Amino acid sequence: MSRRSRGSNVWQVRASALARNTHNLIRSIVDDLKVEPNPEKPFIALSVGDPTTFGNLNPPEQVLQSIRESIDWNKSRSYGPAVGHLDARQAVAEYSAHQGNVAAEDVILCSGCSHAIEMVIAVLADSGQNILVPRPGFMIYKTLAEGLGINLKYYNLLPDQQWKADLDDLESKIDDDTALIVVINPSNPCGSVYNKEHLLEILDIASKNRVPILADEIYEHFVFSGNEFVAISSLSKDVPVLTCSGLTKRFLVPGWRMGWVIIHDRNDILGKDVRKGLINFASRILGPNTLIQRALPSILRNTPQSFFDEVVLFIESQAKLAYSELRRAPGLRPIMPQGAMYMMVEIKMSQFPKFKNELQFVERMVSEQSVFCLPGQCFDCPNFVRIVLTVPEEILLEACRRITVFCKDHIISGEKLKGIDANVVTVANEPKVICGLSRVA
Ligand SMILES: *Cc1c(COP(=O)(O)O)cnc(C)c1O
Repeated sequence: MSRRSRGSNVWQVRASALARNTHNLIRSIVDDLKVEPNPEKPFIALSVGDPTTFGNLNPPEQVLQSIRESIDWNKSRSYGPAVGHLDARQAVAEYSAHQGNVAAEDVILCSGCSHAIEMVIAVLADSGQNILVPRPGFMIYKTLAEGLGINLKYYNLLPDQQWKADLDDLESKIDDDTALIVVINPSNPCGSVYNKEHLLEILDIASKNRVPILADEIYEHFVFSGNEFVAISSLSKDVPVLTCSGLTKRFLVPGWRMGWVIIHDRNDILGKDVRKGLINFASRILGPNTLIQRALPSILRNTPQSFFDEVVLFIESQAKLAYSELRRAPGLRPIMPQGAMYMMVEIKMSQFPKFKNELQFVERMVSEQSVFCLPGQCFDCPNFVRIVLTVPEEILLEACRRITVFCKDHIISGEKLKGIDANVVTVANEPKVICGLSRVA
């Protein structure tokens, strides 16, 4: 049937299949939560993955100055090449030297890291093919792939092994139609940082099965003390790696929309075809923002290391704070992150029988304690919530305390608490708990 129904007397216009099949899972889950915060407690959102939300983290003056200079430079108003200005690509190549040999020609500038991811997916996969993505993992992959008819297959990350990939599961999910393996390191939402050995194990599977890797390294260098960030491309002998990154998280400027793809292809497996494909795809938006591009060499070369160190140190101390607070909350198991800016917290749902799932737990916590965490369902990971560590210290502390009170109010019994932590205040004599017990019995 033609989409334009001229015969009928109503004029109707329908959205395309691509539009109808493009969904933002976080938005749809969050928008469906119909809860009002407790009016007696100020609302705290531990859900927003935007480090600028609370105003406590700011880019350094040099970065802002680079943009001011770019505004005054007339040339920053004109169109640039679709893949970006050569001097900006050169600056990204130098900034990314830890990834292996990178030349300016290997860099394609994009409108944010998510645009970089979209380019790689769209250029490497056809409708009907699949990409392997980590579970739990950042859901932009679902948003970007599904509308294009590209299937998502999930490989599990193991919470008891600091969220390493389940390698057997990963390998078992590969089939003839697998176009890409996505590796998010450091991870959103887990905060895990993979060591060399583990990255080599992943590369080994990719090499044996001849599947290229999309490395989402937007949190590159965002690692806590005692951990080391290693770019997976720097270890690859043969597997083509397309690394996606950008200014967004590390420079605290998500709204500036500046990201890039870096092509690592030592053995020329992707060849001219894929490079040409990426260049073709870049032309769909006539290239990214030139105001930021013109400032990029100065931003990447002149930002002092002390700025990065301070931000990471702050997030690490927030992680320690949230971990030590929530470890004492009955029924919760926080998993200490090694980097990025998030922490996953397991909710032992069997100890909260009045809630059907973590979604209900999260909803009730908003209505009673005015604290909102992202439910694990947003990452296809039920029984967990993700908290954001970039909020100011006193707000994080207050939120953790309220979460602890909430858990004590709703946990099933004092019996089950035994052995969790000697410091936990027993709640066995609270009427609510007795209710919970009788329901289970
Ligand atoms: C934030 C984020 C992105 C998107 O970054 P933008 O530059 O804002 O598009 C991509 N991947 C992960 C894992 C992220 O957390």
